[in-house]
Amino acid sequence: MAKLHKFLFTFDVEDFINQNAIYALQKILIMLQKHELTAIFFITGHMAEKIRNYPKIVAALKKHEIGYHSSSHSVHPTIPEYTDMKNYEKAYRIALERETSHINPLTGRIEGEGGICTLQDVFHPKKIQAFRAPGMCWTPPLLEALNSLGIKYDFSSNLSLSEPVSYKRTTFYPFTATQRWNGTLYDYTCLLNSIRRHTITVFDLHPTLLVNQIEWDSIYYRGNPKMLRTVPQRPAKEIARILQKLEVLMKQIKALERAKIIDTRINLNASDKKTTITKEKIDNCYQTSMRWAINRFNYYPKFIKDHFHEFFCETYL
Ligand SMILES: [Zn+2]
Repeated sequence: MAKLHKFLFTFDVEDFINQNAIYALQKILIMLQKHELTAIFFITGHMAEKIRNYPKIVAALKKHEIGYHSSSHSVHPTIPEYTDMKNYEKAYRIALERETSHINPLTGRIEGEGGICTLQDVFHPKKIQAFRAPGMCWTPPLLEALNSLGIKYDFSSNLSLSEPVSYKRTTFYPFTATQRWNGTLYDYTCLLNSIRRHTITVFDLHPTLLVNQIEWDSIYYRGNPKMLRTVPQRPAKEIARILQKLEVLMKQIKALERAKIIDTRINLNASDKKTTITKEKIDNCYQTSMRWAINRFNYYPKFIKDHFHEFFCETYL
């Protein structure tokens, strides 16, 4: 029998400012339970600090895979900003420090323990082994630092589009098939095409975007804000409609699973498939990773391209 195509639901949970993002998260958790589906929730340190006050949400999340989504997401210095230095080793050490710390959301300064340590604490005894970088903007020193903190699976890079590949103790899962899902016919067609063509399709959704009109972190686009401001909410009817569309999608995915066409179970495994990498592929990977920093924050890194080449130097000559 042909091998089942995999379909993974993943959600990026990061909006610690707008209260309705918690509502969206709750709704998603209820829907997943109702349709007997599991997902990966990539959660930031700031969000884990908030969620720990909602024991029911923590309990519901524990039924799923918990991934890490950075300590402070869009707070400056962001990952591409704080790892952008000539010395790779130094960038690695800074990443190690910042990703295990609470970062002040207004100043960007380190204030005691937090980050991945908070997730490990809140979701104990679950292991935090998967990572997705904010805006898919990962850098090699960061990934190596996270690897030493237990991260084995990356969901940020476009190294692979179809099946996981391994490199330097990390398994890179395929790039997301959805950057912005609105439940349109076009979105469905893209997803179905991806399922048909790829071994694994990764569905990625931000609960905050279901309930808010603009991105929660737009207050960080021009640097750190003076205060944490909320963003305009979508009208209630629109929220209901989009949540309904998400539920329809879940029903359809479940139907495909019952028909033994796809498998939605989350069982992350180290891939034995080594990635073959070329200089062009590294450049492409670097450019895709930096899109977020450039487009959102107008930040053009100086040294990160060198870090990509240093990281991948073992695979090409
Ligand atoms: Zn994010």
